[in-house]
Amino acid sequence: MSKATIDETMLDRLAEVAVRVGVNIQQGQDLVLTAPAEALPLVRRVAAAAYRAGAGLVTPILSDGDVTRARYLHAGEDSFDRAPGWLYDGMAAAFAGGAARMAIAGDDPMLLSDIDAAKVSRAGKANSMAYKPAMEHIVNFDVNWAIASYPHPGWARRVFPDLPEDEAVVRLADAIFAASRVDTPDPVAAWADHNAALRARTDWLNERRFAALHFRGPGTDLTVGLADGHEWMGGASRAKNGVICNPNIPSEEVFTTPHAEKTEGTVRATKPLAHQGSLIEGIEVRFEKGRITEARASRGEDVLRELIATDEGARRLGEVALVPHGSPISQSGLLFYNTLFDENAACHIALGQCYSKCFVDGGDLSADQIAAQGGNSSMIHVDWMIGSAETDIDGITDTGDRVPVFRAGEWAD
Ligand code: ZN
Ligand code: ZN
Repeated sequence: MSKATIDETMLDRLAEVAVRVGVNIQQGQDLVLTAPAEALPLVRRVAAAAYRAGAGLVTPILSDGDVTRARYLHAGEDSFDRAPGWLYDGMAAAFAGGAARMAIAGDDPMLLSDIDAAKVSRAGKANSMAYKPAMEHIVNFDVNWAIASYPHPGWARRVFPDLPEDEAVVRLADAIFAASRVDTPDPVAAWADHNAALRARTDWLNERRFAALHFRGPGTDLTVGLADGHEWMGGASRAKNGVICNPNIPSEEVFTTPHAEKTEGTVRATKPLAHQGSLIEGIEVRFEKGRITEARASRGEDVLRELIATDEGARRLGEVALVPHGSPISQSGLLFYNTLFDENAACHIALGQCYSKCFVDGGDLSADQIAAQGGNSSMIHVDWMIGSAETDIDGITDTGDRVPVFRAGEWAD
């Protein structure tokens, strides 16, 4: 019997979509590309597609799971407070000079599950601090950027633990192709239709200007106050350099910025959260005045505690997002152990840094103005899923009126 292999035509189309729809590379624009080494078949196709589309210089930066593990297993104690700042400074300089950014995701989500959570947290913190100058260009949306995914074997084994590895990779590849809308004859046109549908939702929410959203579901009774001057975003959006891109391939969400001090109540996660190589399951959290005052998890509670202790903003919300239960990713029934996919299967909230673009005229606001309007700041931004087929959401207006937004996991209208 021959080995199952990834459909190369689909991989070509995924590269094309990532370059043309995702990052929308411009004539002469440079591209900084990060990816796991396993994703080289996609990296090569992305580079080719980018050069065909007129890219100036494509610079890939590869990482490898075994190299990462080697550090945690063999490096000395002081290694875990370090990060390659020189590399990130270079990336920041590239973005300041107008380069676009693409990340190819798909590492083994459980790569570090047997490693000491404190070491992983320290290394993550050092990395976030060193990466901040580069990351700011991304969170401020200075340049066009996108994330796409490759079916890494280590990832595929987690999603399909009962299949031989080659079959698991093909099944995951097909799920990525479907979710990324490249399994259609004209993926670029399919994305245009999808973006128009998301736009209709964000327009409706932006006209309503809700003061808060009230989520109800099993274990959840949560009121998320929205930031002053918040703006709902989704699908294609315009970076400050004027380029319209789709930062997430796939993307089903519409999202905005909560007020850092106005979330109240309890919330239960509806899916496990794969975070930095560990799995956090059964998350239950209480918020008071926007701040987490109680946090529990049935698995990985130590990782959750380390996470929310990162800094003051790590205990507060930086994003709230709406995704219908009927979205294609949700209907696949798969748990991807990967935020890019799982967050697009369910309504979610994110702890940590807000997106300045999720404010009216956000690009013109200073960090102080964003904070004054309720935008949260943190070194982390971690999404976790709180929506299901049982989720009801009301929009609450300034005057306290309630408008149905979601009923039984779907848009109410
Ligand atoms: Zn999101
Ligand atoms: Zn997010």
